[in-house]
Amino acid sequence: MSGDGPLLASALYGLRAWAVTGEPGDEELVGAHAAVPWPPGCWLEAICSKGRTHAAPDHDCTCGIYALHPRPQTARRVLAVRGRIGGIVAATGAVEVHEQGFRAQRARPYALMIGRRNPALVRRLAVRYGAELIDASDPKELLAFCDARDLGLQEDVVRSLIGAEELDRLHSERLKQAHVAVARITAFAAVTSAIVRASRAGATNSSRGDTNCDRHSDR
Ligand SMILES: [Zn+2]
Repeated sequence: MSGDGPLLASALYGLRAWAVTGEPGDEELVGAHAAVPWPPGCWLEAICSKGRTHAAPDHDCTCGIYALHPRPQTARRVLAVRGRIGGIVAATGAVEVHEQGFRAQRARPYALMIGRRNPALVRRLAVRYGAELIDASDPKELLAFCDARDLGLQEDVVRSLIGAEELDRLHSERLKQAHVAVARITAFAAVTSAIVRASRAGATNSSRGDTNCDRHSDR
């Protein structure tokens, strides 16, 4: 399922935005486009959004959990919509890398940014999801956070994974926005299983907690 591409010896990180649902004090993150709920204390596992039987993300499909490489344009994009929360996800498992981002097999919130949202709400969500808090609203601060921790794929890495010729072809055909799967990697964290075990143990006595991650594709 995931052994046919380069291997990254750590999780892969990317930017994305979430919407929020739930009553005050009991809010949860949901996918900004597909309204997929992200389970607190657990990795969100992708399934094919088109109902196909393959594992997500599939090379020739659009399924998987979406995130963007940290760039000035993408940082502005994830923070641009009022009412949404921007932040960083950690992704593991099979990953389809695109020029502007990637589709992943599983992901969880790594950091949430205060942005223009209610700070108290973002702080509650950060605690609930075990995510870090970026107490800023400027997209440059989101990039600085990634820079300081070496999060996300740099442009030269993306170019080497996808191939310079393919990128040039896409540019010449004005397909920069196209969801063309062009590189497959596998990202895993050595501590992933420990994190999951700890998360599940911590959720044992919670009315909301369980040991089964939801499985969805999320954009
Ligand atoms: Zn699919």
